[in-house]
Amino acid sequence: MRINDNYLKLKAGYLFPEIGRRVSQFAVANPEAKIIRLGIGDVTRPLAPKVIEAFRTGVDELSQAKSFHGYGPEQGYSWLSEVVIDKAYRPLGVELKTSEIFISDGSKCDTANILDIFDLNNKAAICDPVYPVYNDTNVMVGRGGEADSRGYYKGITYLPCTAENNFTPALPASKVDLIYLCYPNNPTGTVATRAQLQTWVDYALANEAVILFDAAYEAFIRQAEIPHSIYEIPGARQCAIEFRSFSKTAGFTGVRCGLTVIPAELKGRTAAGDEISLNQLWNRRQGTKFNGVSYPVQKAAAAVYSTEGWAQVTETIDYYLENARLIREGLTTMGITCFGGVNSPYIWLKNPVGMSSWDLFDQLLAECHVVGTPGSGFGPSGEGYFRLSAFGERENVKEAISRIRTKWVA
Ligand SMILES: *Cc1c(COP(=O)(O)O)cnc(C)c1O
Repeated sequence: MRINDNYLKLKAGYLFPEIGRRVSQFAVANPEAKIIRLGIGDVTRPLAPKVIEAFRTGVDELSQAKSFHGYGPEQGYSWLSEVVIDKAYRPLGVELKTSEIFISDGSKCDTANILDIFDLNNKAAICDPVYPVYNDTNVMVGRGGEADSRGYYKGITYLPCTAENNFTPALPASKVDLIYLCYPNNPTGTVATRAQLQTWVDYALANEAVILFDAAYEAFIRQAEIPHSIYEIPGARQCAIEFRSFSKTAGFTGVRCGLTVIPAELKGRTAAGDEISLNQLWNRRQGTKFNGVSYPVQKAAAAVYSTEGWAQVTETIDYYLENARLIREGLTTMGITCFGGVNSPYIWLKNPVGMSSWDLFDQLLAECHVVGTPGSGFGPSGEGYFRLSAFGERENVKEAISRIRTKWVA
């Protein structure tokens, strides 16, 4: 048999293993150093009490024959979709039907698996820097082709996002079919305005393209004018798929629950040129390749949107956002230019002139014992930037900022 050679086209040495290697090497050489990790994008606060309670109840139900649940619907329980519609979308003025929501075990899988329903000849547009999943999954299915010396795959259209364009990608020069957008953005922490999203929706409608909108961080939005959903934008129901996750919203990174929205109006074309519903294709795909999220997890997810649950979840997000403010304002007073960190747990800082992202990584580790993420690890346009995450303990965040002030900037 032959393997899928596209896997060999992926660049070896994923970002986080390399960070891990450098950190453990440093820790072995400096056993007394108290290393503070502001690198990886994982949450640290425990699940909300209301969520735990519902999770437990779900487990208890499985212990009795009369309340036992086996396979659930592949699309998720409609009571969970109804809660999501009612609490997460209706307040935004967005109306959805339960058949337009597919509950899943997370957005990483959904943003990857969605490629199943699209023809290989579609052109994909991906922001740079970016959450690596969109790029690597396109390479895996064979849409990438070979990479050039910068690490750009020839078959993919890249949309650079830098301070020069205010992290707002320009429309592609030649037609694309699949457009990945993520707002609030990982890694840059920046957001998109209604007007900016409208530009993309108009482009997608005019070009029969589909927007793959990753809203994993929407719960961090605090500025009222910033949209939480692509469906707040007129026309988006005809051209956008939205991915949401309980991971960053409610600390479900280890619990696993997310959802994908595909409106009934969203159509693609067959080889013969006929229109066909993407919702119908995804439903078929999930029915065949997925068997649903566990019952207690869906119970726990529904509790996120209970009145008490949401208050508790909001408190945790506010905790992270206060960390973000401390990092952003602390660095800004040191004269470092920062982006993000307002509607996002990520602060994207500009390196001192002439310093590469890995040089900055090594310096912060060596001098401050602080671990961040080199911007270049998210794509060529991330070179010259550095990501700090606000998902840590308050005391560690304060200590990290104080070390950067006294040991590095001074
Ligand atoms: C964390 C994250 C997700 C969520 O992934 P899950 O599989 O739901 O945990 C999705 N997109 C981006 C950009 C993320 O950073």
